[in-house]
Amino acid sequence: MKIEFLGTGGAIPTPRPLCFCHICKEAREKGVPYSRGGPSVYVHGPNVLIDTSEDIYTEINRSTITSIDGVLFSHWHPDHVMGRRVLESISADWKRYPPQPNTLDVFIPEQVWCDFQERLGTFDHLSFFKEQHFISTHEIKDGDTVTINDVAITPFRLAEDYVYAFLFQSQGKNVLIAMDELNGWEPPAWLPALDVAVLPKGLDPIHLSTGERMIPDHHPVLQEECTFEQTLEIVRNLQAKQTILTHIEEEDKLSYDDLVVIEEQLKEKGIELSFAYDTRLVTI
Ligand SMILES: [Zn+2]
Ligand SMILES: [Zn+2]
Repeated sequence: MKIEFLGTGGAIPTPRPLCFCHICKEAREKGVPYSRGGPSVYVHGPNVLIDTSEDIYTEINRSTITSIDGVLFSHWHPDHVMGRRVLESISADWKRYPPQPNTLDVFIPEQVWCDFQERLGTFDHLSFFKEQHFISTHEIKDGDTVTINDVAITPFRLAEDYVYAFLFQSQGKNVLIAMDELNGWEPPAWLPALDVAVLPKGLDPIHLSTGERMIPDHHPVLQEECTFEQTLEIVRNLQAKQTILTHIEEEDKLSYDDLVVIEEQLKEKGIELSFAYDTRLVTI
């Protein structure tokens, strides 16, 4: 398996439109790895796309992806679904008549299936794609595993139980990919030893380089979202051979160069991890 980070930004990508902070200016001038598109990941081997951020067209076009054999959605949030029209752009064949059954399979975990019916019109939009023969949809019930190209993929709920992480298992390798929302999560005892863990970075109440306070102490978001410190605790508990953090918010005000320094500082403290950047390819 290979993991390709298509977009490593968070709810607000970098550069943020109309923001002229030094992080966004640098991202505009230099592009990747300083710029970060919305959150999407591709796994080579099973050839699956996880989530469709609004930047997904650009992200796929600049990637090494040659085919998609399955699409997974982790949860309903807009930063993870709003590029869903790409499914039509990939599959539509206006000229063929009668229409051929499409082959783009979309897999949706049980709670996400429910939430899509209530939120952002996603179910309605996917139903339109189905009617037009662009996609097929498949609900994955909790506890079920789907196998795509001989890779077993098991979605499971995080503590924020409308959000799923995915365990990929193939040829003795175990890969965990959690796209977002680790708040309150503790790794369950049933998780196997991990070769790779991909996790969202978490918020920084204090700027990681300057020590400046970024989020007021009593801000409710600190109860609702996992912080970077809490993420490090999860990293220690998981003990994956390799840990890669993604979903890096513009509001953290950290450039690619800052994160390289932070990786080194953490290493000195005995914490081995790295930060993802757009287009990064990791072979397992
Ligand atoms: Zn997100
Ligand atoms: Zn900015």
